Amino acid sequence: MEAKCVVCHDKLAAFRCIQCHKPVCDECAHKDENGAFCSRECAGQYRSYGQAARKAAAKRGGLGKVILLVILLAIAAFIAWKRDLLPSWVMEKLPGGAGNAPAEAPANAPE
Ligand SMILES: [Zn+2]
Ligand SMILES: [Zn+2]
Repeated sequence: MEAKCVVCHDKLAAFRCIQCHKPVCDECAHKDENGAFCSRECAGQYRSYGQAARKAAAKRGGLGKVILLVILLAIAAFIAWKRDLLPSWVMEKLPGGAGNAPAEAPANAPE
């Protein structure tokens, strides 16, 4: 799986260019905030391409976030509903608890 650097053809590659996926060693790699590239040209290409891709992803990501929010709300509602059910059947199993409490009793029922 080890590949040699495409720039110096000498050292083993430490990175793979994010833009063209060519192997590049630590010394030859052109690094910036996006990651490691085989050349400055690739870094520039990735930068211009990445901006367009990020804009497209942001559009899709917006819809994904709404779906995620709906799912989270559904889970929260389910947990709230479950919590409401919890005391009655938990208390039945607890020794010395309100053994004969009606199943529909609210959590703060008097003794
Ligand atoms: Zn190299
Ligand atoms: Zn490259």
